[in-house]
Amino acid sequence: NAKGNQNDAIIFYGEELHEREVKRNEIERIMHTALSNREYRMYLQPKVDLESGRVCGAEALVRWVRPRGGMIYPDEFIPVFEQNGFITNLDMYMLEEACVYLNGLLKMGISGICISVNQSRILFYKQDYLKQIEKIIRKHHIDPSLIILEVTEGITMENLEEMKRLVRELHKMGFAVSMDDFGSGYSSLNILKELDIDELKLDKAFLADTGEQEKRDIIMKNIINLAGELHIKTVTEGVESASQADFIRSIHCDIGQGYYYAKPMPEDEFTRFITGKA
Ligand code: C2E
Ligand code: MG
Ligand code: MG
Ligand code: MG
Repeated sequence: NAKGNQNDAIIFYGEELHEREVKRNEIERIMHTALSNREYRMYLQPKVDLESGRVCGAEALVRWVRPRGGMIYPDEFIPVFEQNGFITNLDMYMLEEACVYLNGLLKMGISGICISVNQSRILFYKQDYLKQIEKIIRKHHIDPSLIILEVTEGITMENLEEMKRLVRELHKMGFAVSMDDFGSGYSSLNILKELDIDELKLDKAFLADTGEQEKRDIIMKNIINLAGELHIKTVTEGVESASQADFIRSIHCDIGQGYYYAKPMPEDEFTRFITGKA
C-alpha cells in the first residue's frame, strides 16, 4: 500500500544518509595520516597551446592512492575536506608538490611549462593565506609566474571586494590567476569587469552533448572573443574529440585541456609526455 511504500522510501533514504556518514567518518579518521604518508599524489593533465600544438602547462589534480592500491577521486573527498577545513592543508601540499616538480623540470633544462594549482574557496577566508604561499615560494625558490592559481567563480560573487584585494596581492607576488569552471554556475560577466584575472577556463559542460549545439557555439565563440579583447587567456576544459578540438581552435580559444589530448597522469609520465622520451 501507499503508506508502506512511503515508509520504505524513508528507510532507504536513511540508509543512504547513514552510508555517507560512515564514509565521511572514515575519511576524517585517515586523512591526516594519509598526508604524512604522502598518499595524496599530484597528477598532471596537459594544457595544449592550440596555435602551436605544444604543451604549455598542466593542471595539478589530486589523487588519493591508498596503501593497498585503491585510488580515490577528488569528488569523493574534496567536499569533506572543504567542510572540515582540511582542504587548506591539502591545497598547500599540492602547491609545494607543484614547486618541487617545477624545480625538477628546470634542473632538466625544461622551461615554458606552467603548473595550474586548484585553490579551494576556503583558503581565501584564512587570514594567513598570502603568508603561507609566500613561505612556500621562498622555500622552493620558485618564480611565481610559473604557477597559475585556479579559483572557482562561486567564490568571487560571495565577497567581491575581498577577492579583488586578494587578486591584486597575488599579482603583486607574481602569480597568475585563473577563473575555473566559468559558465557552470551563476556566472556573472561582472566578474570579468571587476577582477583582473589572467585566464578563463570554460567549463566542460559547454562541450557536453546537451542543449542546442548552434546556440552553444555562439555563446562559446563570444565568450572567447570577449576574453580576448580583455586580454584574458582562454582555456576550454573537457575536450574529448578531434571535432571539439577543431571547433575550439576555429573560434580562437588559446588553450585546450581534456581527454582528447591526454588524461591526468603521474608526474614522471607527464615528464615523458613533454620530452617525448618513453
Ligand atoms: P577542475 O579543477 O575543474 O578539474 C577538471 C576536472 O575535469 C578533473 O577532474 C579532470 O580529470 C576532469 N577532466 C579532464 N579532462 C576531461 C574530459 O575530457 N572529460 C571529462 N568528462 N572530464 C575531464 P578530477 O581530477 O576528478 O577533479 C575534479 C575536481 O576536484 C576539480 O575540477 C577540482 O575542482 C577539484 N580538485 C582536484 N584536485 C584538487 C586540489 O588539489 N585542490 C582542490 N581544492 N580541488 C581539487
Ligand atoms: Mg581546476
Ligand atoms: Mg574546471
Ligand atoms: Mg570543477
